[in-house]
Amino acid sequence: MQDWQRYALDMVEDQIVGRDVRDERVLEAMSLVPRHFFVPPEYAESAYIDRPLPIGEQQTISQPYMVARMSELLQGKTGMRILEIGTGSGYQAAILAALGFRVWSMERIGSLALAAQKRLHDLNFDVEVIHNDGRGGYPEEAPYDRIIVTAASARVEAEWDRQLAPNGFLIVPLNVTTGGQRLLVRENLKPGFRNTWYDYCRFVPLLIGVD
Ligand code: SAH
Repeated sequence: MQDWQRYALDMVEDQIVGRDVRDERVLEAMSLVPRHFFVPPEYAESAYIDRPLPIGEQQTISQPYMVARMSELLQGKTGMRILEIGTGSGYQAAILAALGFRVWSMERIGSLALAAQKRLHDLNFDVEVIHNDGRGGYPEEAPYDRIIVTAASARVEAEWDRQLAPNGFLIVPLNVTTGGQRLLVRENLKPGFRNTWYDYCRFVPLLIGVD
């Protein structure tokens, strides 16, 4: 993958800028993180195409556009604390670290958690991966300025609300009755929460317990 930087730039231009993501920091992060290291070797050549890809254990690395879109909606500032639920390959976590977030990321499948932690470490991304069911969040490091859920959920878990800093917000693909999901941004107004709905999308489901 000698030419990966050119592929990454093309990906940003065609798939991300082309669909109206304009946050310069997000565009830069997406062009600098080597996505081909986050997919199985047999998919390396396809790493920069406009699709989610299999990463084993029936899971997928999200489509580049969806990673960019969610990253833009987060409106991150350097040093903010973020909890990700659904580490998968670790790609979204790497983008968050590149954006200057302090990142904790939870994964319920042990083999994926282990592989992602090693990969992120080898690539020098400062991310802590936690092997556990993310429905309970990670109270040990709460509160978080942001929480990002990258698997489809039936509801907003009470623990996520609880672990959100004042004026912080979470973003989660919530199942909608028409099938598929829609991105929800939920802000902690303390007291109360404000919900705002964004794009329709399709993520693998949030599952119960650990494997
Ligand atoms: N963000 C990932 C893609 C997410 S795929 C990336 O950039 O590659 C969704 C991931 O969420 C899968 O790896 C799945 O195992 C994980 N997951 C599903 N339910 C979970 C739960 N309850 N807690 C933690 N992780 C979960």
